[in-house]
Amino acid sequence: MNPTIAGDLTAFRAETHAWLDENCPQSQRAPVKNGFEDIFAGGRNPHFHNEDQKVWFERMRDKGWTAPTWPKAYGGGGLSPQENKVLEEEMAKLGCRKPLWSFGLMMLGPALLHYGSEEQKQKYIREIVNGEIWWSQGYSEPGSGSDLASLKTSAVDMGDHYVVNGQKVWTSYADKSDMIFCLVRTDQEAPKHSGISFLLIDMRWEGVSTRPIKLISGKSPFCETFFDNVKVPKENIVGEVNQGWSIAKNLLTHERTSIGSLFSNIFPIHEFAKEKVGLESGKLADPVLRTEVARLMIDSLGLKYAIEQTIDEAKAGQQPGAKSSYFKYTGSELNKTRNELMVALAGYEGLHWGEDIKEGKIARDMCRTKGNSIEGGTSEIQLNVIAKRVLGLPTFKG
Ligand SMILES: Cc1cc2nc3c(=O)[nH]c(=O)nc-3n(C[C@H](O)[C@H](O)[C@H](O)COP(=O)(O)OP(=O)(O)OC[C@H]3O[C@@H](n4cnc5c(N)ncnc54)[C@H](O)[C@@H]3O)c2cc1C
Repeated sequence: MNPTIAGDLTAFRAETHAWLDENCPQSQRAPVKNGFEDIFAGGRNPHFHNEDQKVWFERMRDKGWTAPTWPKAYGGGGLSPQENKVLEEEMAKLGCRKPLWSFGLMMLGPALLHYGSEEQKQKYIREIVNGEIWWSQGYSEPGSGSDLASLKTSAVDMGDHYVVNGQKVWTSYADKSDMIFCLVRTDQEAPKHSGISFLLIDMRWEGVSTRPIKLISGKSPFCETFFDNVKVPKENIVGEVNQGWSIAKNLLTHERTSIGSLFSNIFPIHEFAKEKVGLESGKLADPVLRTEVARLMIDSLGLKYAIEQTIDEAKAGQQPGAKSSYFKYTGSELNKTRNELMVALAGYEGLHWGEDIKEGKIARDMCRTKGNSIEGGTSEIQLNVIAKRVLGLPTFKG
């Protein structure tokens, strides 16, 4: 029975709960500890941190639940948005981790499902679901971040292929990735938004190189990526030539919604607060921190409900569109506040800076959150989008 058609999700919930409980190893029912050091990211040379992680990934992949709502025809789970919500709720109840985390799932896949050719969907969507390719994102360039459409990396039409030259920057994990989805300029003469195409490039091809960017923290996912006369087959273009800007924007809405959603989970900060500052007459001992904890929890609930409403709207075929900027902005700002509050709650322990001790991680995590309001488009850019496209405010012509 298809529970969506039957309009009854009770049986699906019970089956899903039982399956998860039976198949998710205990070690995969705990929060991720150290970001990329603790999650499975896929790739041609997959690295599992332990056997349980492999088992969990393979079981979920075989059900299509690495990408639960994507079509079964490409290896996805074929779940309806309602079923997916049930799956997420049941995973949350048991504390199950996501079995795979990748730019392919978050960004490229949804764009390919919309704009890709049938061949591209059959090949790349399947690989993403199966965690076979590690994708990186080649959008930003030196001088083209917020004003992304000013990008200069060129792809020159040579008849049966393109020749790509240029530089990308802040390409997260490009040194580990197998392929990169890129924005390139295919028409130098056209207005800047009209001459851009969306190209898929294999990192093994001659002329592609990456250089890590070191940060003061000592850790960095960032790279510079260079293209020096790289020969790219024409079949690697997604959508129409010179129409890549639409795909770029579509992908950004998914990136922004994903970043916002990442932070919409209600983190039990009141429990953390209780542990650190204690209770007095049943309330958190420090009245100022109590107010801040309460405000954060209320705002987080607001974001969670707004995202849930959008998921419900997706059932009726509505895309989040510019609302993704609201999710991105609010999620990033809440995550920064949450981590600053955790440092404050932890007191002097929150200022430790180390790898091993729990409190050292609090300070590191807090610093990392500063990047949330830059990656995927800065907070200022999201506010511009919200002002123009959500609130319909007039452009200031000073
Ligand atoms: C953690 C992290 C991961 C990233 N990963 C990737 C990746 O994998 N691939 C990739 O391609 N890129 C990546 N980026 C780059 C990111 O997308 C850019 O940094 C971002 O788009 C901002 O561009 P910029 O750094 O050039 O800043 P700029 O665009 O130069 O902006 C500088 C400042 O000016 C403000 N500003 C600019 N224009 C306006 C305006 N019109 N109105 C108001 N304020 C404005 C900005 O908000 C910002 O505060 C990543 C960045 C971070 C921090």
